[in-house]
Amino acid sequence: MSDETPFDQLPAEERLFRQRHSAAHVLAEAILEMFPEAKYAIGPPVENGFYYDFDLPRPLTPDDLGALEARMRVSVERNLPIRGEQIPKAQAREIFKDQPYKLELIDGIQDETVGYFRHGEFQDLCRGGHTETTGQLGAFTLDRVAGAYWRGDEKNAMLQRVYGLLFPTDEELEAFKVTREEAERRDHRRLGRELDLFHLDSIAPGSPFYHPKGAILYHALIDYMRELYREYGYDEVITPQLFSADLWKISGHYQNFRDDMFMFEADESEMGIKPMNCPGHCWFFKSGHYSYRDLPLRLAEFTRLHRFERSGVLHGMTRVRSFSQDDAHIYCTPEQFEREVHLFFEMSRRVYADLGLGEPRVKLATRPEKFVGEIPAWDASEKLLGEALTSAGYEYEIAPGEGAFYGPKVEFHVRDAIGRSWQLSTIQIDQAMPTSFGLQYVGADGEDHTPMMLHRAILGSLERFIGVYVEHTAGHFPLWLAPVQAVVVPIADRHVDYAHRVRSMLREKGLRVEVDESNERMGAKIRRAQLQRVPYMLVVGDREEEAEAAAVRDGTGADLGAMPVFQIIDRMVDERDSRAIYAGKPEA
Ligand SMILES: [Zn+2]
Ligand SMILES: [Zn+2]
Repeated sequence: MSDETPFDQLPAEERLFRQRHSAAHVLAEAILEMFPEAKYAIGPPVENGFYYDFDLPRPLTPDDLGALEARMRVSVERNLPIRGEQIPKAQAREIFKDQPYKLELIDGIQDETVGYFRHGEFQDLCRGGHTETTGQLGAFTLDRVAGAYWRGDEKNAMLQRVYGLLFPTDEELEAFKVTREEAERRDHRRLGRELDLFHLDSIAPGSPFYHPKGAILYHALIDYMRELYREYGYDEVITPQLFSADLWKISGHYQNFRDDMFMFEADESEMGIKPMNCPGHCWFFKSGHYSYRDLPLRLAEFTRLHRFERSGVLHGMTRVRSFSQDDAHIYCTPEQFEREVHLFFEMSRRVYADLGLGEPRVKLATRPEKFVGEIPAWDASEKLLGEALTSAGYEYEIAPGEGAFYGPKVEFHVRDAIGRSWQLSTIQIDQAMPTSFGLQYVGADGEDHTPMMLHRAILGSLERFIGVYVEHTAGHFPLWLAPVQAVVVPIADRHVDYAHRVRSMLREKGLRVEVDESNERMGAKIRRAQLQRVPYMLVVGDREEEAEAAAVRDGTGADLGAMPVFQIIDRMVDERDSRAIYAGKPEA
């Protein structure tokens, strides 16, 4: 409880923590003024602000938040000192005798004394870490009210949780609100439905339904990766979904990961649905006979994986139970190792460029406290990854102790259009599985050797990637990924036949085209295509039909003028095949 350093000399992060913490007290003070009979529970600082849980005589309304905030500002204005001390439990029980939640908290504390803090008339049970006075809170606002069970247990009373936002300055608070609004507008769960791509349903928690357009996007990404795989010498395999528990015991998943897997009995033996491909790939390797001439062996797989994520953590496409990865495992000799890492970095760089994702932030995660293998081997692997990153032109930071228990890894973090960071690619050296599976290849010396093994993925989980990418692009995919690449809009019924002819001509070149035959007005049709993020709208009437042309608008609605159909095809095929990034403004 060291509060000695003057507040304004504390590190910025600590100051903000204390401001958020103190604001929670000031909020509870305001609540007790408004509802003297209120019971207050706990109120910690959290990301972006703070909250406090209350048991109140009635539900709070948005108007109440305004009134509470005004009362908080009075407390700020009074600039009351926040003072604390340790007091005996018995004394605390007396002070909080009408506060059942506080009494329960006191009972849960092991020490003989408890932290007791007060400012003005307000008193609270607390571990400390405050501003010196209520006048140092920074820029805050009350945000919303939500239900929360006492201690997160649904058997307990439902409390009202009041959330507040708090940042050091008004500008930062405002910037946060703007970004959040933009994030809500781009929320992939919402856009997934609006753009008819996918949805999630409680009938299958954490397992997306891909609509036809979403399935096109999903397969376009896989086709793209397959093209790179051919170029980089990967072999695609399809391994089983269900394995005997024996496999998971060898890989260590049974011992370490079992609660996160779907396991069940079949034919009186225990089976598990695969949560990742590596053990299956190791088994595949083990079932073959490989010599150094067959290596590197790069095994890729897109089949579905399942993990038992608890329902409380599921979130749209970014946290799911059923997913697929652009996953591959590379088995190679020590001599080939560096080149494999290098090739992976090269491939990642191309993918990021093609998807318009910009330069990633790269982290090298090193040996954790719990690890398998020998320290010199770890050091060598870490050094090798670092050198390969440098030679690929990546600057990187070290994340000490954040490697997997079986080997160091490199993570690529990508910043999206509204500044949020997402981890996508990873490459990990595995110093455990080749040994636990007893993998061997025959070396040039005729002896058996253990291969090196790499786990790598560029997009990571396709579901998560699609969720992130929908938000990054706000649904404006580059042409090569757009589920519908053009809509032909006939001006009148008599142009419908011609519209279909235009569609056929484009389809012959593999372009994905629809005709809007609805009876709506032209403006409405164009607006709809724009809202659906269709990159091209081809309007056809008498003049266009006569010239075998179309009046072209791009996804922003900008009029590109009339163009002969062959020219439209050239333009679109060019844009598709060069994987040009969507150039329009992201607003629809
Ligand atoms: Zn406190
Ligand atoms: Zn793996």
